[in-house]
Amino acid sequence: MHFSKNMSNVYLCLMQPVKEIIDQNLFTAENLVTLLSAKGEDGLYILKKAGELKLKTVGNKVYFRGLIELSNVCEKDCLYCGIRRSNIAVERYNLTDEEVLGAACFAFEERYGSIVIQSGEVTNEPFVARIERLIKNIKALSDNKLGITLSLGEQTEEVYRRWFIAGAHRYLLRIESSNPELYRKLHPDDGHHLYEKRLASLKIMKKAGFQAGTGIMIGTPYQTMEDLANDLLFFRDFDVDMVGMGPFIEHDDTPFKNPLPESLSLPERFNLSLKMVAILRLMMPDINIAATTALQAIDPLGREKAVKAGANIIMPNITPGKYRNNYLLYNNKPCTNEEPEQCGGCLDARLSLADSEIGYGEWGDSEHFKKKAKGKS
Ligand code: SAM
Repeated sequence: MHFSKNMSNVYLCLMQPVKEIIDQNLFTAENLVTLLSAKGEDGLYILKKAGELKLKTVGNKVYFRGLIELSNVCEKDCLYCGIRRSNIAVERYNLTDEEVLGAACFAFEERYGSIVIQSGEVTNEPFVARIERLIKNIKALSDNKLGITLSLGEQTEEVYRRWFIAGAHRYLLRIESSNPELYRKLHPDDGHHLYEKRLASLKIMKKAGFQAGTGIMIGTPYQTMEDLANDLLFFRDFDVDMVGMGPFIEHDDTPFKNPLPESLSLPERFNLSLKMVAILRLMMPDINIAATTALQAIDPLGREKAVKAGANIIMPNITPGKYRNNYLLYNNKPCTNEEPEQCGGCLDARLSLADSEIGYGEWGDSEHFKKKAKGKS
């Protein structure tokens, strides 16, 4: 057999398995592990192909979702999360209605197109009614123009319906892990953290009419490459419209404050997160994928790198500055000493690095969802 010394041939030869998987869409669990484990040129090839496919399918626009962290009061006790119920070091807060509407106004005036209202999980009727009222008020103040995504945890079918009818149209609920066994290791066994309930909530939220978003953390304790491969397959099989996933980062006041001996380092989690974004883009070319803030906590240009690798959504934080230090999900969360006005501008400058254009004033709904809706009508 003749081996050419030509470098590009050597490159092609090395690339073969990864290239074959991508070119022929051979996304089995086993092949996904191969992609996730790819290093060097192979790894770069995955990121490059995903970036190219993104431009061909959803284009070079990045859509903003102004993130309002409504409250850190939480009924849940997730072992990884800085605002878990048992963390008594956190000063609990609730934005006033005026503050929420002020933030929404800011997003509207800055032509962000959409907002996300996120908070710890609360399930009582006053909370549900308050959200319903806020959604209606935000719709009214923006002449129906501001898109609203909710990220308010597990709720009943009736609650999802009420919020959808009030005017919100996208919902984010991370499955955290599609492996029930791993899910159980990441959450306390107290009857309030059931994988089955999480999955059922995702289903009923979709049934209520929401564009469905989910996601996971990358590099949690006990997680394997096989878990991540199966998470990717879960996103595809659940037919999600949007995904937000990023590195798991320890928080000092949680049971997971110390990495396990076998845990990936933060740079490894970062690189794996970029690869997850890229592979998902290759598997689901027309969904919305967020470049999450946790990426920026590890690498200042993390979100821009994710945009290059296939992400098309960014969530600038527009929570009033004085509350941000109390919504620390993990150590070193970025932009906690900024006010909303400082955020958009810095993103604008950074995104230009990634050759992207911002879809100002647009909802930037998932093309995947739009196609499904068209098929139904
Ligand atoms: N309560 C809502 C829910 O459960 O969906 C939304 C708020 S929750 C804090 C938002 C997300 O933060 C979670 O789904 C989780 O994936 C992420 N998160 C929590 N702790 C984290 C950590 N230590 N590192 C990275 N992400 C984390």
